[in-house]
Amino acid sequence: MLECYVVTNHKKKKMIKIINKLNSTLINMHLEFKKFFASKILGKKYIRKGKCNACGRCCQEIYVRHRHSIIKEEEEFYRLKKLHFFYSYLEIVAKNDTGLVFKCTKLDEEKGICTAYKHRAIICRQYPQEEIFMMGGFVSEDCGFEFIPIESFAKVFNKINKQYKAGKKKKDFIIMR
Ligand code: SF4
Ligand code: SF4
Repeated sequence: MLECYVVTNHKKKKMIKIINKLNSTLINMHLEFKKFFASKILGKKYIRKGKCNACGRCCQEIYVRHRHSIIKEEEEFYRLKKLHFFYSYLEIVAKNDTGLVFKCTKLDEEKGICTAYKHRAIICRQYPQEEIFMMGGFVSEDCGFEFIPIESFAKVFNKINKQYKAGKKKKDFIIMR
């Protein structure tokens, strides 16, 4: 009876091991597929992970980019206000070297929730996006999201290095040997 139990237990452990291995293989395959889809189909360089923890930071320190530059002047912002309802939610709170800093009046600061949640703009629904990095921005430390590079720095660097050696890149790239 004891022997039978030991055998069953051993089998059980083996099964759990196989299932765990299968599970991690599936997770890896899923991640690789996500990476492939994001980089080859959507042309992204990062994968977004995590979820919003309603800290409200992204609604309190906002820069507005119009066309190719960050809004720096109040007059420019007042003109924009007429173009999209989202701008009418914003209030100027500061100005620095980057540009005007806004906060959204629809944020309930105490609860950290959006009081216009159902009617919030697309930019709020999609936040944070990879484009933030492209504009020199970043997500706050409290943010529940993080961005993972699809290709490591070393991989990108090696690719450029190879292109340089093959004569496809200009000489102003640093080469590591
Ligand atoms: S509309 Fe809501 S989600 Fe968008 S910035 Fe304002 S408070 Fe945040
Ligand atoms: S900063 Fe990140 S976690 Fe905080 S409210 Fe914005 S999206 Fe959510």
